[in-house]
Amino acid sequence: MSLSIHEKEKRGKKISKILAELYPDPPIPLEHEDAFTLLVAVLLSAQCTDIRVNQVSKILFAKAKTPTKMLKLGVEKIRDIIRPCGLSERKSQNIYDLSRILLEHYDGQVPQTAEELEALPGVGEKTAAVVLMQAFNIPSFPVDTHILRLANRWGLSESSNPSIVSRELKQIFPKSSWAKLHLQIIFFGREHCKARSHDGNKCPICRHFSS
Ligand code: SF4
Repeated sequence: MSLSIHEKEKRGKKISKILAELYPDPPIPLEHEDAFTLLVAVLLSAQCTDIRVNQVSKILFAKAKTPTKMLKLGVEKIRDIIRPCGLSERKSQNIYDLSRILLEHYDGQVPQTAEELEALPGVGEKTAAVVLMQAFNIPSFPVDTHILRLANRWGLSESSNPSIVSRELKQIFPKSSWAKLHLQIIFFGREHCKARSHDGNKCPICRHFSS
């Protein structure tokens, strides 16, 4: 049975409190220097671990950390460097193409609206939201696989559509909490509330919901 918005807000408060105790200051997992390097790192992270992305991006950014230098490096060299991240054909072409578009249309800067970001090659709603939030401090609630799974398990959303889940979470949690909460939920999902299994006896969250 789906919960009322009031019940979801009550649940959200309990969850926020527990997550704040567990992860008081969650770091941004993808290493970056500015909006451009963050955008590239998020593109690299599709179907790849953050650890691997950070290893690869370090090598890539040592050679090219601006759109101009990325174009100079060329799509083949980008592909060779990022190969360990997987999907290197598509990712390298997207990084190359978006670097060109940034230079041609945005004076080499990363745009600051969801519409403009989502028009760039390889940039979807989640990637755009991460960049807006972490590079520009613009409140958003990116929904990745962990957040989607946990929002469903916690009864905060019944949807399997990330856009709808994002909208619902924005209604439940105060805007000022989104940036930190987004990271806290991801850390909690990776550590405790995994896709294949979960230990409800050890877990600090769901047992509160009956009270
Ligand atoms: S009890 Fe299970 S489903 Fe609930 S938060 Fe903990 S690990 Fe996730």
